[in-house]
Amino acid sequence: MVEVGQIEMRKEYGGMGFRHFFGFSLAMLGKQGWKLLANQDTIVARIYKARYFSNTDFLGARLGHNQSNIWRSIFASQVIVRGGQRWRIGDGRKIKVWADPWLREGGNSYISSEKVQGIENIRVADLMDSAGIGWNWDLIGEIFNERDKDAIARLALINREGEDKLIWKFDPKGNYTVKSAYRYAIETLVDNEEYRVGGEWLKMWKLQIPHKIKVFLWRALRGVLPMQMRLQDRGVPCTGICPFCETNYENDWHVFIGCEEAKNVWRTAGMWELIENVAVIADIFVDCIFSLLCRLSVHQCNDMAMMLWCLWRRRNDKVWDGELKRIHIVVQLAREFLDQCQVARSKSEAKEQQQEQHTTRWQPPELNFVKCNVDAALFEEQRSFGIGMCIRNNSG
Ligand SMILES: [Zn+2]
Repeated sequence: MVEVGQIEMRKEYGGMGFRHFFGFSLAMLGKQGWKLLANQDTIVARIYKARYFSNTDFLGARLGHNQSNIWRSIFASQVIVRGGQRWRIGDGRKIKVWADPWLREGGNSYISSEKVQGIENIRVADLMDSAGIGWNWDLIGEIFNERDKDAIARLALINREGEDKLIWKFDPKGNYTVKSAYRYAIETLVDNEEYRVGGEWLKMWKLQIPHKIKVFLWRALRGVLPMQMRLQDRGVPCTGICPFCETNYENDWHVFIGCEEAKNVWRTAGMWELIENVAVIADIFVDCIFSLLCRLSVHQCNDMAMMLWCLWRRRNDKVWDGELKRIHIVVQLAREFLDQCQVARSKSEAKEQQQEQHTTRWQPPELNFVKCNVDAALFEEQRSFGIGMCIRNNSG
């Protein structure tokens, strides 16, 4: 286990223990996700498959509506499981050349050469020579680029009689360990030195918005939301194209600012002018949002955070359910949600204050002294009385 103290926890650096919290929870959930992928014959895996991804495997599963919380949580670990999986080559018959990770390269275990038409679905077995010892270099030389050829050259075929096996690449034995998954989560998903900007993070954490939206905003600013382009970089097969305009690549800037659809959301919210003023000078998404957080009033910042969340939700509805929610409705719902949360918050704050005023807290006595609290009560009907007494030293 990693000691909490070893991890940067300071809120102002965008840490706030969330690095730890997210990394650790993803790593724990990944353990379940990994079992669903690597041990598909277990009863649990078969139940999940039947219920949530009958036509594909854990990594191909999508999240629909009305699914159990447990499944939603495990689903969130897809990105960890995907990043850590690699095939150990046996006879090569299970492994798809272009779709599966099987190279022993540190960063990317996928083939990087363009697919060759007509042979898109070949297996690694098809790249082996028929004599049964090594690789078929004539074919490999024909279809792969230098990087892939070098990577294949480093792969010895020592177990051609055995079965291919899916392994966890961060563990020497190939078994999933929470520790290695945690490290991977922290290093690649959550930790990013360049985003460590002092006071601006504190501003973000101080916003008066629902907690889950704060967490969303934090993820957006750390650059860990699963945009199509980011997924593509990680070897996930997807189009990379924005689901709304279908002409631009989908990255943070496009989803939240650049796309015409995003601009319409800001316009409907009456905020486009504010955003545009900053967007023309900031050239990356994170800078743009931080600079807005510094310029806008608290109220405007809260509103902006809600609209960013709105944009992401609307994008997910489109991507996952093919649903196109009407802009003025989502904007209105987001604002109502914010109002409700703020009313609830001010009520509970008032209550807390009241309670504080009414209770006198017990204070321990100095060292070597004891404090005695006495209370008495009369019970008229029984014609009796009771006395209670409590003697405490400095440690209570
Ligand atoms: Zn677009």
